[in-house]
Amino acid sequence: MTTPELRADTFDSTNPASGAVVGTFAVCDTEDVADAVSRARHASARWRGLGFDGRRRRLEAYKRTLARRADELCEVVHAETGKPLADAFLEVLLAVDHLAWAARHAERLLRLRRVRTSALLFNHAAYVEYRPVGVVGVIGPWNYPVHTPMGSISYALAAGNTVVFKPSEHTPATATWLADAFADATGDAAVFQVVTGFGATGEALCRAGVDVLAFTGSSATARKVMAACAEVLTKVVMECGGNDALIVDADADLDAAAAAAVWGGCANAGQTCAGVERVYAVDAVYERFLGKVVDAAAALRVGAGADADVGPISMPGQVDVIEEHLRDAFARGARALVGGLDSVRRPFVEPVVLTDVPSDARILREETFGPVLPVVRVADADEAVAHANDSTYGLGASVYSRARGVELARRLDVGMVSVNSVLSYAAIPALPFGGVRESGFGRIHGEDGLKEFTTPRAITRERFGLPFALTSFDRPRQLVPVLRQVLRLRHGR
Ligand code: NAD
Repeated sequence: MTTPELRADTFDSTNPASGAVVGTFAVCDTEDVADAVSRARHASARWRGLGFDGRRRRLEAYKRTLARRADELCEVVHAETGKPLADAFLEVLLAVDHLAWAARHAERLLRLRRVRTSALLFNHAAYVEYRPVGVVGVIGPWNYPVHTPMGSISYALAAGNTVVFKPSEHTPATATWLADAFADATGDAAVFQVVTGFGATGEALCRAGVDVLAFTGSSATARKVMAACAEVLTKVVMECGGNDALIVDADADLDAAAAAAVWGGCANAGQTCAGVERVYAVDAVYERFLGKVVDAAAALRVGAGADADVGPISMPGQVDVIEEHLRDAFARGARALVGGLDSVRRPFVEPVVLTDVPSDARILREETFGPVLPVVRVADADEAVAHANDSTYGLGASVYSRARGVELARRLDVGMVSVNSVLSYAAIPALPFGGVRESGFGRIHGEDGLKEFTTPRAITRERFGLPFALTSFDRPRQLVPVLRQVLRLRHGR
């Protein structure tokens, strides 16, 4: 078992569509969390001692286990979140790809390497290496219970750290499955452990003396996590919410843009941190684009079945948020072209497409996290960029334009942009994933993601001695005046 023995309290994980109990888990208290971190600390020397090669072999064994048992894992995710099997499969596929990349590239990116020295210290060699921090605490959300936490866990492990993971209280079965599979594949249950529970368990992990705390969840909880981590001076990586825009320019492929808007907005029932939350389409193509969005959204199949297009909303409280945002939009004059208020059929929300949404509507300003697409008419792409940037969030964005895609992408104040596709950056392991402003800071995935879980160590080595050493009281008196001349010549002109 990777979860601690059951203590006083337990809680059930249930299927949001049927209410069926998926499993019963411990509410881990401060002592349980401290024990897990202590085990991880002891395992740290062993894991670090394996070196890049030993860790790569174990992580590849884990990867093979996940790939072979993917269907089993998808069933657990489907049971616990209600999401269709295809959505579950997509996140497992991406997680395995990231794990493979992290295992394969950690050594190349983190090992000791020589860097250029300076003119002043031409007689020295210089090196840098990226050492594991030790124990990484990971706190995860429920909406992508495999892909999201594994985006931190795989990279932290590949960088040489051990991990204690506190999953969402809505997805403990998925997390436990992931940790048990690691123990099966590697024979080591202390390197990747899970502590289950609610916010208090997460808070205990923040104060448990881990070396980095990687949090993924809402911006509101991120503030509490940072405050708790500040008490013990623990570094944080923050992956928070978003309100991502999709821009449709006049020369866009409208079929592709409409399909992407509907998938980006409604896949996973709209519960995607970097999903499409708002669409800005330029006037010249607005009506044609909107017609295609309406057709595609109206055709989606909603239900609890494993092969539905849109599953249930996983958290009951989120249905309230979606309903409030819809009411607010209608009160401000928005019109629904697909669905409406009666699309809210707990625990499901059927797709809703809105037009005439004013820019101060909550649905355009806050994270709705449901299959709801407000499509806003703008004069041109410049106005679309201005609207997209007018947000407290800054996670991702998408641009559909044949001629100006990358140019528009570079004007968006976000961490990631897909041009002529949606969410593609999440599927390319070499790319860093993360946002700006209320969407957080620090990065997971790619080289930047590996380095978040390391400490750089700088080393210099004197290759040959000089008759006069700058860093010596024995240096000749005329050396500093000579260097003053050198400074002027090199940098003062
Ligand atoms: P949440 O903030 O409610 O909870 C996230 C995690 O924090 C859970 O495990 C929860 O138990 C824990 N937690 C709650 N209170 C805590 C506290 N005081 N101290 C420590 N931990 C605490 O978020 P959620 O509802 O699980 O997830 C949805 C949110 O996550 C959305 O805002 C979504 O956009 C965001 N998200 C972001 C990314 C990203 O990579 N940027 C990915 C997925 C989800």
